[in-house]
Amino acid sequence: MSVGSLLRVAVGPRFAVPLLDYLAPGKGPRPQLGVRVSVPLGKGRRTGFVLEHLDGSDVPADRLRPVLDVLDAEPLWDPVTLEVLRWAADYYCHPLGQVLAYALPQQLRRGGKLPSASLLWRAAGKASAEEPNLLKRAPRQRELLDRLMAAGRGGLAEEALAALTPDWRRLVRILQEKKLVEPFEAAEPEHADILGEEPLALSGEQSAAVSAMPVGQGYACHLLDGVTASGKTEVYLHLVQKVLAAGRQCLLLAPEIGLTPQLAERLTARFRVSAAVLHSGLNDGERLRAWADARAGRARLVVGTRSAVFVPCARLGLIVVDEEHDPSYKQQDGFRYQARDLAVMRASRADVPVVLGSATPVLESLLNVQRGRYTHPRLTKKVTGTRPPRARLVDLNRHPPEHGLSAPLVEAMSEQLESGSQVLLYLNRRGFAPVLMCPDCRRTEECSHCDARLVFYRRRDLLLCHHCGARRRPPTGCANCGTPLQTIGRGTERLEEELEARFEDYPVARMDRDNVRGRRRLEHILGGIRERHYRILLGTQMLTKGHDFPSLGLVGVIDADQGMFSQEFRGPERLAQTLVQVAGRAGRREQPGLLVLQTRFPDHPLLRQLLREGYAGFAATALDLRRRSGWPPFAHLAVLRASAPDAASVHEFLNRAKAAFAQDGSESAVEVLGPAPALMERRRDRNHAHLLARSSSRARLQASLSRWIPAVRELKRPRRVSWSVDVDPAEIG
Ligand code: ADP
Ligand code: ZN
Repeated sequence: MSVGSLLRVAVGPRFAVPLLDYLAPGKGPRPQLGVRVSVPLGKGRRTGFVLEHLDGSDVPADRLRPVLDVLDAEPLWDPVTLEVLRWAADYYCHPLGQVLAYALPQQLRRGGKLPSASLLWRAAGKASAEEPNLLKRAPRQRELLDRLMAAGRGGLAEEALAALTPDWRRLVRILQEKKLVEPFEAAEPEHADILGEEPLALSGEQSAAVSAMPVGQGYACHLLDGVTASGKTEVYLHLVQKVLAAGRQCLLLAPEIGLTPQLAERLTARFRVSAAVLHSGLNDGERLRAWADARAGRARLVVGTRSAVFVPCARLGLIVVDEEHDPSYKQQDGFRYQARDLAVMRASRADVPVVLGSATPVLESLLNVQRGRYTHPRLTKKVTGTRPPRARLVDLNRHPPEHGLSAPLVEAMSEQLESGSQVLLYLNRRGFAPVLMCPDCRRTEECSHCDARLVFYRRRDLLLCHHCGARRRPPTGCANCGTPLQTIGRGTERLEEELEARFEDYPVARMDRDNVRGRRRLEHILGGIRERHYRILLGTQMLTKGHDFPSLGLVGVIDADQGMFSQEFRGPERLAQTLVQVAGRAGRREQPGLLVLQTRFPDHPLLRQLLREGYAGFAATALDLRRRSGWPPFAHLAVLRASAPDAASVHEFLNRAKAAFAQDGSESAVEVLGPAPALMERRRDRNHAHLLARSSSRARLQASLSRWIPAVRELKRPRRVSWSVDVDPAEIG
């Protein structure tokens, strides 16, 4: 076998291990790494990625089959992005083939062609002269031609034509044959021309932040730490402007749930450059087009949620991660990666600056500031100069709530509503009531597939499991003794009814995943809030994200204790972030807002410190606690999770996996704890448990994982056990 003619290929559709060896095609140069090839498999033909160039193969020479086709002339990713993908596959212990497939638009994954530049069309030749009889017998061609003539020399983009009529391509082709229209490529706008509107004059703090973050001078990571409405986005825009002016691209990441369009709108209003916005509303063709435009450098702005961190960019100049603390940057299934961390990694490999923006940075980022790895520009004031909200803890032991609302909260609400302000109430619990219980024997309605109570939805007359989606009709009485059942506690659906009864003159907007599905509905409700049709806003996490509500006088947290006793190591951090983010919504342009926190634990140290010293004070204490207890970011974790229909198989497998773990020299470098049952042991008819690997050294942990995980893959598994590994887990579970 001649050296250099062998390829190792990850073969679709699942791209999982094992990789297969093929002969490179006889003619032409050897396909580069990262190129797609079409290969024979059994009697079929599959798409695969070339992952390695081999010098030899264990497969006997007469069994090796040649690649059928090389689909790409060059790798789909630029070298830096490909390197990040490889690094991510190693770091998160996920098969590289699957990582590459994940990072590709659907159509490319299936072997489709990479689209070339998006073309524009304009009227040409005879068409420019007015000819009333032209195309008299072809009214649809005539109509299209009229549109193109009206558009003049600037022409129309293919997207615009597609919006006019679905079979535009056929019509345009006929017109082209008649020499009535011609295609042309869009010219890059001149650099002086990029502004669509004047930038705002920056405040002192903002300009200091912009100067502290030089662009065009290589890699640096900046933690832009600014309170809500301090003008972080405006700071990004100023940096973006410099990068665009230098002819480079900007990649901006935003959390899920409606925030991408918002950021994209501000960017496209400000800059007259082409943008690729990758959001969940795109169809496959649009996604492919956006991806290809980013890759070729045609799209100067690339905006998306976490997976956009893998979108190739020919001329990257800046990465921004907005709301860097947002949990949605972590992918929680399949390829479990953290997009914020990869953004920093990518920026350093691409040698460009990266900005992480937040009002509540994660402890990892703050530690990196302490260690001198990130700079720390701060914005401490709201742009409007409005002071932070006045906060008040309401002790529910002293002010027992009625329908969820304590007297002081009702009083504050009435005052604000009467004075014309809007009021926001935060309750992170969906449904009518979390518990349906028999008052006699105290039996509760539980999910038969999970260790969880069923949530009662009154309007839909339904019991629903929030963990597996199981649903059934609520029984009329207790299964044991027939007593009519009672609802305990409240979710947003119940509070909405109670608010409507109590504040009947003030329409309530309820924002949670049951009521707001899809972007259109979200836009509709946000519109109603901006136009002040709604006066009371009630919602879950969804309300805490980004949206700017300028008429909000009061924020009420219905249950500040929710999450206070979380067993997860990030529990307190998440609670503090949520409370600060919700509180940040309060405050009208002219006057500071009011924050009311209802709690049964008014002396809880976390609440007290948060109110006294703000997030920074909380974070300092929390970091210290993590240091002393040896949790991240002072330790590095990986969780090996497994599940099976029965507990015995799970534990058998995890014990085998633990035995397969070889200590690497120094005894204490990496410890493996467990097996331990998951917090919710029974979920979706399966038992869940895990092993926890922990080390004070990231490098040691990585070295161990790189041997351990392949060994675990080789283990004999009891039937129906499935498992996964989660490096830098968001939670242990
Ligand atoms: P953040 O991203 O920190 O929440 P934004 O950048 O969205 O803050 O700014 C909040 C509001 O203040 C926006 O409406 C924005 O247009 C406005 N704003 C930001 N910077 C300025 C400025 N320098 N002058 C005037 N208005 C500003
Ligand atoms: Zn369930």
